[in-house]
Amino acid sequence: MKLDPWGPGQIEDYAKLRAEFGLGVVDKATWEGVKDPSPLFEREIVFAHRGLEPVVDAIRKGDPFGVMTGLMPSGKMHLGHKTVIDQCIWYQKQGADVHIAVADFEAYAARGFTIPDAQKLGLEEYVLTYLALGLDPKKAEVYFQTKRSRVKDLAYRLGLYVNWATMKAIYGFEDSVRLAHVNAPLMQAGDILHIQGTDLGGPRPTVVPVGVDQDPHLRLTRDLAAATRVFSVTETKDKKIGVFVKPEKPPRDVKTLLGDVEGILRRDLGYGDLKRNDAYRAIYVGGANPNDIARIDLALGQYEANELGEPGHFAPASTYHRFMTGLVAGPDGKPGKMSSSKPETAIFITDDPKDVEKKVKRAVTGGRATEAEQRRLGANPYACSVYELYLYHLANDKVLAEVYEECTTGKRLCGECKMQALDLTQAKLKEIREKREASRHLVKEIVSDQ
Ligand code: SF4
Repeated sequence: MKLDPWGPGQIEDYAKLRAEFGLGVVDKATWEGVKDPSPLFEREIVFAHRGLEPVVDAIRKGDPFGVMTGLMPSGKMHLGHKTVIDQCIWYQKQGADVHIAVADFEAYAARGFTIPDAQKLGLEEYVLTYLALGLDPKKAEVYFQTKRSRVKDLAYRLGLYVNWATMKAIYGFEDSVRLAHVNAPLMQAGDILHIQGTDLGGPRPTVVPVGVDQDPHLRLTRDLAAATRVFSVTETKDKKIGVFVKPEKPPRDVKTLLGDVEGILRRDLGYGDLKRNDAYRAIYVGGANPNDIARIDLALGQYEANELGEPGHFAPASTYHRFMTGLVAGPDGKPGKMSSSKPETAIFITDDPKDVEKKVKRAVTGGRATEAEQRRLGANPYACSVYELYLYHLANDKVLAEVYEECTTGKRLCGECKMQALDLTQAKLKEIREKREASRHLVKEIVSDQ
């Protein structure tokens, strides 16, 4: 199975993908002890993660954490896009600071947009809708890639830590690829990591909610974060000892560094059994286990940033959600994901109600060939794009359980089910459209001019 961040991206077997790529499971147990878990997690629409534990830990303890997301201003915002911002808003309610990059540079380089057009589309289609959906501008910022020089500077520096062979292995680039395209993942890594600058909150747990096709970017970014660090924190080969801390790229005298680290481990983190080996330039932390690596790494990242003037990047986490299925099948007869470039597959937030009606009425369902068969055998909600509308956006737990039960037992037919989904969709979109107009004055507040 191959993940392509620029490909069509409809994944058929999410469990297999999770196992194959070594992703963690996101389910109800992940959020134990967290107040009001989002239905997106409870319903396993967000189904996998990489390195999420420190973020969940920060939420449980009320510690600072950040969220980074981006938007590609090359088409209209649809309900599939809403899944990402719904997660960001939930994280924000849990205490996160939220950072949103408008990828105007990428829209220019990869999609042929002018920069002003991309910026206008980003604000009008996406940012306004984010505010309407409840994003609090006081704890969020939106910036344009073209205007934030520090992201471009960081992307340039990150290029020191990755070579062409690695980029080819991750992305499958051909020799004909344009260099602007090759640079795009470094820009994204710059976006993700720059929010750990000391003026933006410093090294702390951060999370990037994305579709699973974006995992290559996250793997690269996590590797780059580690590559820029002064210290490595790893499990010892002899598991009885614990973990060991080693300055890989000491910016100053190693003895002083080890002395500082010893202090942090003993005083701030409470580890008493330390063995310092100056010849090997390492400190063994007795009694620590692999579960302690993240908290040690975070404390050292903060030391690197605050005392050594280094980036101290703490590896960003990512969560992966299932794509919303397109409302109609593609030319091969198979449903793809909801896509801006295929308007018939998607319900756009700013769609005219008449278009919404046509699209829902035409949507592919998991219904049977005849009414009699459906009454007798029930239908299949898991093969139904209308059920996904309920699941992702329209139904509380009670309504969802009703739809599911009536669908699978044949009490409900697809025609009436579509009408209910249509009414709920129209009501939801009307509410968003009204809130968009009421939120216009907040755009200036949330958009950064650099
Ligand atoms: S009854 Fe509703 S949920 Fe079930 S297959 Fe038909 S449209 Fe989908």
